[in-house]
Amino acid sequence: MTRPHSARRPDILICSGLDPSGGAGFLADARVVHELGGRPVGVITALTVQNTLGMRECHEVDAEVIGEQLNVLLTDVEVDAIKLGLLGSEAVVRVLADNLALTRAPVIWDPVVAPTRGSISFLRIVETALEQLRGHLTLITPNRQELAALTGISNGRDSLPTIEQAVAVAESLSTSHEVSVLVKAGHFDGDQAMDVLVHEGKVEYLHGPRIDTEDVHGTGCALSSAIATLLTRGASIPETCRAAKQFVAERIAHAARPGRGAPAVV
Ligand code: PLP
Repeated sequence: MTRPHSARRPDILICSGLDPSGGAGFLADARVVHELGGRPVGVITALTVQNTLGMRECHEVDAEVIGEQLNVLLTDVEVDAIKLGLLGSEAVVRVLADNLALTRAPVIWDPVVAPTRGSISFLRIVETALEQLRGHLTLITPNRQELAALTGISNGRDSLPTIEQAVAVAESLSTSHEVSVLVKAGHFDGDQAMDVLVHEGKVEYLHGPRIDTEDVHGTGCALSSAIATLLTRGASIPETCRAAKQFVAERIAHAARPGRGAPAVV
């Protein structure tokens, strides 16, 4: 496909849910992509009812419409990287899997199992997605709870309590699904917010200072969108993850407070 301009913003395909408060999901993803020099394009995979106090409901979007949107987009625009977030329903996962075959762009997936505030679970969708999207995924960015859920260990928040356990599970997931895995392990004890990357059979520890703040909404969304956008600059996955982690750490330190509840990363 010919490019009309040499200096262009990379097109980043965002497939994530709508959080009307803008702290997470599509709106947050689009802001991060734009801020880091990308051009957001995308589909809304779910409609949540939420404000900064938490997610109250999540409504499905017609998967057939999303399939058509992706099809007309991807047969026209050559996207440079893809960020997947909350996927909304198993039907959406299926149309995504079908349409990802239209592109060779790297796919970064933030497997949202549950909102930090709210009691809704997306566990079944995440399990389905891991299998259906097999072969399409470049990097998965679970936190410890999501890693446990993805690998069928448990849905409890305290599963995988040690770094060693998390690394072992991430390594086996990486091998079995031929995908890099970045475990957002920020809640481990100590004064370091440490993430663990399993990439091409190697384990790397990504250190960063622990920022003393209450849970900031949208950090996972921002991190995966930052990785997708920065990856288009040509650096390796480990270098890109480090740069994206740095970007998010800076944003956490200067989080916005749009409402009465959680601060938001963007
Ligand atoms: N994606 C969407 C659309 C959401 O609404 C939410 C959360 O509420 C998330 C992702 C996850 O964000 P967080 O982990 O900050 O709750």
